[in-house]
Amino acid sequence: MIIPADAVLDTREDLHPYECDGLTAYREMPLAVVLPEDLDQLRCILQLCHARQVPIVARGAGTGLSGGALPLANGVLLNLAKFKRILEIDALQRVARVEPGVRNLAISEAVAKHGLYYAPDPSSQIACSIGGNVAENAGGIHCLKYGLTVHNISGLKVLTITGDLLEIGGKCLDSPGYDVLALMTGSEGLLGIIVEVTVKLLPVPESAQVILAAFDNVEAAATAVGDIIAAGIIPAGLEMMDNLAIRAAEDYIHAGYPVDAEAILLCELDGVEAEVEEQIVLVREILNKNLATDIRVAIDEKHRKRFWAGRKAAFPAVGRIAPDYYCMDGTIPRHRLPQVLQQITAWSKEYHLPVANVFHAGDGNLHPLILYDANKPGERKRTEEFGGKILELCIAVGGTITGEHGVGVEKLNQMCSQFDTAELNQFHAIKHAFDPDRLLNPGKAVPTLQRCAEFGAMHVHAGQLPFPELERF
Ligand SMILES: Cc1cc2nc3c(=O)[nH]c(=O)nc-3n(C[C@H](O)[C@H](O)[C@H](O)COP(=O)(O)OP(=O)(O)OC[C@H]3O[C@@H](n4cnc5c(N)ncnc54)[C@H](O)[C@@H]3O)c2cc1C
Repeated sequence: MIIPADAVLDTREDLHPYECDGLTAYREMPLAVVLPEDLDQLRCILQLCHARQVPIVARGAGTGLSGGALPLANGVLLNLAKFKRILEIDALQRVARVEPGVRNLAISEAVAKHGLYYAPDPSSQIACSIGGNVAENAGGIHCLKYGLTVHNISGLKVLTITGDLLEIGGKCLDSPGYDVLALMTGSEGLLGIIVEVTVKLLPVPESAQVILAAFDNVEAAATAVGDIIAAGIIPAGLEMMDNLAIRAAEDYIHAGYPVDAEAILLCELDGVEAEVEEQIVLVREILNKNLATDIRVAIDEKHRKRFWAGRKAAFPAVGRIAPDYYCMDGTIPRHRLPQVLQQITAWSKEYHLPVANVFHAGDGNLHPLILYDANKPGERKRTEEFGGKILELCIAVGGTITGEHGVGVEKLNQMCSQFDTAELNQFHAIKHAFDPDRLLNPGKAVPTLQRCAEFGAMHVHAGQLPFPELERF
């Protein structure tokens, strides 16, 4: 027996909870769910699936927002929830080795006794797993200053589809050979199964302060974002929420947000006390110059956490005011924020679909939440079309179609606009090198060239139209 019988789920009731991830608009029942608890069991499952040519979709906590962990009807859903041990904390080297199912926040909680923490902090950090974070190259409020997941890990252990163990990087800053660590980060479960992560740890800063600034219009807040960074200040977090998001969060969390403001900025500054005090003065000046109507500095740690609690709970808060929402994730150069936000507002009116904006403004990482009702005929389709337009706009202004949520099934079409044929061919070649039979999360993250041709967004090189036989729409 490969794994105990109770570690395989195959009845309808047992499979239902796994039919989607955080992108609930897309659902599919898997063939079966397997819950291995050690490497031997996991290796056997991979080898069996490989021998029988059964596709495998890895799942961490299932909080992904692009459908990366969406099951396949003919595939096994590999649940890594039982891999939740913290294997080692090396406070001297400032690293920890953890299994992939460990929750993001659990790492910082475990190392707090050493005065350390793990910097990337997705708003889903109480639930999402570090394996999922690596597979999506997750970001968070603190990533503006401290970098994304890729900048905060130094080693991985990965099982290939044939069950071979790859040790990539380790506890040191650099390792020889190709940078496979970066390649695996953000690979969305397409190249291998992450079975161990070495995360870098940082000392908890001596002081952290957050400033809340309110504005009469979204564009002024967006301009202030660019001005703060241009002044040479790198906040530990620089987040923006528009009026709809402010009201939803305030109703839910009572964070003390000004509900009449058209936009708020939350700007966190951290470091040694004197430096933080100095930066608060500078940021205040910039906010005043940009006509902030109200500026508040958190009076103590409890107050600081309350300001952040509203932001961190903004997605579920928006979930309370509409039957459904569709969270987009695109990144743009910071100076294009005012223009892009204006265009989103215009489209929101045109499509009759409200939008709540709550996002990592300092990174230029937008998260327009499009509110809709899936039960109203045609509304989901209009929402997807609107979302697609936002992503295309991100590309047009020099940005990208994902900041942190990955491509999954959600953004396959826009991948055709973001990359040309030569680039997509290289992606397919990389996939082939790791997984020639396309068994790991097939159909996600990288579109086929045929799909791009059908979508009509294929880049044409030297007038040579790929797949000329296909009808264009
Ligand atoms: C309320 C809310 C707020 C969010 N805020 C943020 C945010 O601020 N920043 C951010 O980046 N994201 C955010 N997210 C999205 C999500 O939490 C992240 O993408 C997270 O990294 C997903 O982790 P997970 O464990 O849930 O992965 P899952 O959803 O289970 O899987 C995500 C992808 O990783 C693959 N995968 C999972 N585990 C492994 C493994 N061990 N080996 C190989 N592949 C694997 C899956 O196949 C899938 O493709 C938010 C989500 C929600 C619901």
